[in-house]
Amino acid sequence: MRVKLLDLVPQYQAIEEEVRAAIEEVASTQMFILGPGVEKFEREIAGYCGTKFAVGVASGSDALLLALMACGVGEGDEVVTTPYTFFSTVSSITRLGARPLFADIDPVTYNIDCESVERLVGERTKAIMPVHLFGQAADMDPIIEVAKQRGIPVIEDACQSIGGVYKGRKAGALGTAGCFSFFPSKNLGGFGDGGMVTTDDEAFAARLRSLRMHGSRERYYHDEVGLNSRLDALQAAVLGVKLKHLDGWNDGRRQNAHRYTKSFEALEGVIPPVEADGCTSVFNQYVIRAKKRDELMQFLREREIGCEIYYPVPLHLQECFKYLGGGEGDCPEAERAARETLALPVYPELTREHLDFVVETVGEFMGTETEKR
Ligand SMILES: *Cc1c(COP(=O)(O)O)cnc(C)c1O
Repeated sequence: MRVKLLDLVPQYQAIEEEVRAAIEEVASTQMFILGPGVEKFEREIAGYCGTKFAVGVASGSDALLLALMACGVGEGDEVVTTPYTFFSTVSSITRLGARPLFADIDPVTYNIDCESVERLVGERTKAIMPVHLFGQAADMDPIIEVAKQRGIPVIEDACQSIGGVYKGRKAGALGTAGCFSFFPSKNLGGFGDGGMVTTDDEAFAARLRSLRMHGSRERYYHDEVGLNSRLDALQAAVLGVKLKHLDGWNDGRRQNAHRYTKSFEALEGVIPPVEADGCTSVFNQYVIRAKKRDELMQFLREREIGCEIYYPVPLHLQECFKYLGGGEGDCPEAERAARETLALPVYPELTREHLDFVVETVGEFMGTETEKR
């Protein structure tokens, strides 16, 4: 049996007709840039997340960049964030000439460690950017508390967590702004790149709308230099169809995750992911901590089970960020997670047989490892 880390084909097969109709509608109007379809989808995302506004942009990376621009982050400013995340959380900061300050992570949730955030926030800190990693929200209350005391915004990187819940509220509706990605592998994925910024702040939303259109509120009059970064009408049409299915798919991921966890709890050598109190994860990734991670990965791949390391190199140790002066030992928990974690297939269309095969194979590996000792 072969189990892919992610297979989008069965999902598409289930909604093919709906999606084709939505695409054809856009094609018949020949209106591709913004317009009523994008606005409708923006309202739907705002409604889904429970924010007043949502602004469609070209990618999750641009959502982060534009949100920081709308906060006025620039040269010489600092932004506190986590090194255990996808690259663009941090490139959005450095692109603006600002400096990322790396907080360590919580070894249980892999999300940013709040005490570490508190220690790092200083005079020059212009924003805090927590990431809701793998589908689970970071512990936002203490972060928002620190930000309030300093009068600085919190920009949520919610790219992996659409639909995730923290203490009764959705990811992306907790801070000043929430940034989403519709990259195909996210829980709500388009037919290409796409992104969204959510916020309750009307002026902030207006500035985002200007920034995504070259910094112009009125065509050909530019208040500032923005980007060309809009959500395509075609993507909005596809995503609008998919949004109706999102909760069902997220439930499917959760069920698969819980099935794994039940089996792995009894297995020596594997630490399953933990949902923190008050959090509902949408499991964009199901990430275990494993003994002999690299050997396990090889073992699974030889048996045609897809798996991946998210992320092998924490961002403070990346070549391109060496100029920041970071080094080994700065964020020990992030570095340990990079050595010990492995993502297993968790997409909603996995069958019981798939899941059983993954569990058996991980068990087989751990069994042989135990015998060796
Ligand atoms: C996917 C992702 C991004 C970037 O989104 P793109 O749409 O690929 O630009 C940023 N941050 C995190 C945590 C992500 O998972």
